[in-house]
Amino acid sequence: MFADAHAHMSDYSEEELNKTLERAKANGIELVVALGADGETSRRTVALAKERPMVYAAVGIHPWFLKASFTDDDLREIRSLANEEKVAFIGEIGLDMNRNADRLEEQKKVFTSLLNLAKELDLPVQVHCRDADRELLDILEREGMPSRGGIAHGYRGNPEFIPAYLDLGFYISIGRSGREINEESEAVIKAIPLERLLLETDSSASSYASEDGYEPASVTVIAGNIAGVKGVHVDEVGSTTTGNLKKLMRIS
Ligand SMILES: [Zn+2]
Repeated sequence: MFADAHAHMSDYSEEELNKTLERAKANGIELVVALGADGETSRRTVALAKERPMVYAAVGIHPWFLKASFTDDDLREIRSLANEEKVAFIGEIGLDMNRNADRLEEQKKVFTSLLNLAKELDLPVQVHCRDADRELLDILEREGMPSRGGIAHGYRGNPEFIPAYLDLGFYISIGRSGREINEESEAVIKAIPLERLLLETDSSASSYASEDGYEPASVTVIAGNIAGVKGVHVDEVGSTTTGNLKKLMRIS
């Protein structure tokens, strides 16, 4: 069995979403974590997860989707959503130096607030980071991790930062970079022990339309590629990574 630790589902129509999850099930995917990226998509994600046993939700504000300013109302909205049923993570939160780099200070403020919310509510986090690993690790080391840890999602940073993430208690998920193995993705996969690795697609309705049907079912392709790099059977990658995610989420 497989699990997709990070997908976006709030932009599918009801019908497309149901078909997508049927295809996922038919490919052996038993669990999908769907992420919100702001208040509105987080709200939709919680609602769709409540109606679908295999989907759990994460609520947060992605660094790409910062509004003009972050207010106490925004924090209150995420806090109230986080208390709903089926919410398993605070995410997607993080730092990105590729987009919105001119708003890094605002990004840091939002990330720190939502990290502290995760600690207060005793939830793990799902963290997005592009070219800002040092800045992100500095905040985590200063503020402290949630006791339940988290996921460094879609990891494509320098392998040299991986030990620091592992030391902080993160699981590291491999997504798009695992679709085709090259020197870079191979080095990252080799640096993560299977016991701390997760699979994800970071797919959405638009990726299904634009990337040859890239969707949660595609996690099996990534699993196959990781199996090749690690020299183990794909089923071992599937069962170990699914077990890792369930352990992190405290579900069975
Ligand atoms: Zn994402």
